[in-house]
Order: sequence, then C-alpha cells, then structure tokens
Amino acid sequence: MAKFHVWIIGLILAALAGCSPTFTGNDAANPAPIRSTEGKLQVLFLDVGQGGSQLLISPSGKTMLIDAGNNDKEQVMLNYLKQYQIKKLDIVIGTHPDADHIGGMDKVIDHTSIGRIYMPKVAANTRTFESLLESIQNKKLQVQTAKAGLTLDWDEAVKVEMIGPVTSYEDSNNMSAVIKVTYGKTSFLFTADAEALSEKDMIKSGVDLSSTVLGVGHHGSKSSTSLSFLKQVKPQYAIIQSGKDNNYGHPDKTILSRLKKEGAEVYRNDFQGTISIVSDGSHISIAGERKAK
Ligand SMILES: [Zn+2]
Repeated sequence: MAKFHVWIIGLILAALAGCSPTFTGNDAANPAPIRSTEGKLQVLFLDVGQGGSQLLISPSGKTMLIDAGNNDKEQVMLNYLKQYQIKKLDIVIGTHPDADHIGGMDKVIDHTSIGRIYMPKVAANTRTFESLLESIQNKKLQVQTAKAGLTLDWDEAVKVEMIGPVTSYEDSNNMSAVIKVTYGKTSFLFTADAEALSEKDMIKSGVDLSSTVLGVGHHGSKSSTSLSFLKQVKPQYAIIQSGKDNNYGHPDKTILSRLKKEGAEVYRNDFQGTISIVSDGSHISIAGERKAK
C-alpha cells in the first residue's frame, strides 16, 4: 500500500479515536506554517536541515529560541525570525556547543534583541563556539548556566523547566540542556542531543518526563531515545530534526520503529519541512510545510 494511503488511514483512525491533531499540509504557494494567534503556545521545529532549532511563542507573545542550526543556516535563521515577526528573543538557549545547534546563533544574537541566554558549562575549541562567545560579549550578555533543576521565568501561563543535564559529562552531547515546557494539559520535551546516559540520569532524578510532544534526541540517532526513557515520556507525537540524505543515517530505523511501537506519531523536518505545533492548553494542532511522503 502506498505510504500516502497509510497516512490518510492513520489520520482517519486518529480522528475516530477522537485525538486527532489537525494536520495542514500547505502547498507551494503557502510555503510555511504561519504565526499563531495570541492566547496560544506555538512551537516551531524549524527546518534547518541536519541540525536543531526550535522557536517558541507564548500565549502572551513571549519568545524563546532553543538552538539555531549550523553555520550555513545563519541567513535562514534570520529569515525565520523575520517571517515569524520576532523582534526580541526573551530567552535563548544554546543546548550544547556542537555546530549543528549553535552555528547560526552568533548572527541571531547580532541582529536580534536578546533577554537572557542559557548554555551548559562546557566549552568547545572551535571557531563556531568562539564566534558565538564574541557575539555574546558584544551584546554584553551574561550567560546563565543551563542545568537540571532550573525553572525559567517566561510566561506566567507556561511552565518552563530545565531537567538536564543532571550532572557533568565528558561527552558534549550528554551536556545538552533538556527543557520541558508545560501549558495546561499539553507538554513538550526538547532533548537536543542528549544520549542514553543523560536519559538514564533524568529518569533517576525522578522528574516527571511525560510529555505530549517529544523533540526526539540527537536527530533520531540510536544513541538516544532509549526504550526506558521513551516509556517514561510516553509521547503522542515525536518530532525528528534531521536533514535529507544526511551522512549519519539519521533517523535510525530502530528508533523509528521504537517510536511507532510505543504509539508515537512521527513528524520529520526532512519530510514535512518546518513543523508548527499550536496548543490551546488542552488540544494541539500540527501543521507542516509539506505533506508527508
Ligand atoms: Zn546535533
């Protein structure tokens, strides 16, 4: 059976189950999901190819950017901010120093008014990281340490908790800041490139991991999304940020089937382009640039 039919049937089944998100696949004339109206939480998994970036707009219009794609996505990031009418980013989080997450962040900082910035206590000996530090210095921003246990002041209707990294790790991926955002009955978990070791420590920390939407760890690599972690998160929707035909084999087949088996509906930047999720606190709706192939 063609995949398209599977998708349609999946949608019908979901509708029958009464828990369907509305998926609006836009056509070429209307290329990207639009900014949501006020009073809702909008989470955009921005298509930055092989890399990570999520833009959040709160019910009262507060903004947060988690990561900013790779170095070659600087202009793409600035275009997204313009498209979504972002003049100020109240919170910026650089989850960890890898180029596919912070590469575009220097230019974002140069060209946007920034409230607070969070980064984990880990450095990288790269030009990309140095360039980000320069932009931070030029703006006279003070970096706050990203670590588990923080509650971030953002919008009084939305709870923003940092639940990772629980401790220090040698591996930069495991140092990834992990953020849980809760609005009413809906919640979002952003895991950046945290791997199984960090996942294990988050489970051990006893924090409530359950989330409606999971930003799948490390672009769907098999080093992340361990079964025990996934069983705690119990996501209804899983979003994978990986680029078309990337050299890493992301997302991994094992992870895709694991997500499916655990009941998560998967959306991918490489298939659907930028993915927008809007929550009114009870229900969510999902829109992508393109329909799944
Ligand atoms: Zn990455």
